[in-house]
Amino acid sequence: MASIIVLMGAPGAGKGTQARLLEARLHIPQISTGDMFRALACENTPLAEEVRSVQAAGKLISDELVIKVVRERTARDDCRNGYILDGFPRTTVQAEMLEGLAVDQGKEIVAIVVDVPFDLLEQRATGRRTCPVCGEIYNTNSKPPKVDNVCDLHPETQLVHRPDDTAEKIRVRLETYEQQTRPLLDYYEKTNRLHRVDGARDKEAIFRDIEKIVTKQL
Ligand SMILES: [Zn+2]
Repeated sequence: MASIIVLMGAPGAGKGTQARLLEARLHIPQISTGDMFRALACENTPLAEEVRSVQAAGKLISDELVIKVVRERTARDDCRNGYILDGFPRTTVQAEMLEGLAVDQGKEIVAIVVDVPFDLLEQRATGRRTCPVCGEIYNTNSKPPKVDNVCDLHPETQLVHRPDDTAEKIRVRLETYEQQTRPLLDYYEKTNRLHRVDGARDKEAIFRDIEKIVTKQL
């Protein structure tokens, strides 16, 4: 049975990388609510019109409208063999709505969380340095440049540390994630559909585990 993959993970856990690997290797598209709403803005369908009128009135997009948009998008042919959801569900109410969609589509919901200890996420982020010329990412803890704070390929360029990557700001991001995601994790755990993958490893090892979980169900 094809899967609806609900992929979760804290900021910096590598969820985006895993979604791209799933897309490239298993041809399971990632369906992002952000992308869907941006695409709708240029369409002339009744649904696009509905979304526009809600937005024009300055109202919040309701859960009912979001699931309608997800339903329409995932009815397309590229989602036939399953898809990954990004940005949905965010709440248990949305998760319950997704159950109905899964039944209608004859698909199974598989929740996967890429688990990385918060200490490690903090270390990764505080140590991150980027070359402003080529975009190469270094890490003072795990992947230092040959010369301190200078790109290996651009010796004239100092590496940059993003102001968002301070320990304090990372803590806030992680706490927000924890608060928002905890109810969803509990929801899928209670219904025995939560798979935890050890994310404190390289991306290929993580992907192998995810692939096993997904292909068993497909
Ligand atoms: Zn460089």
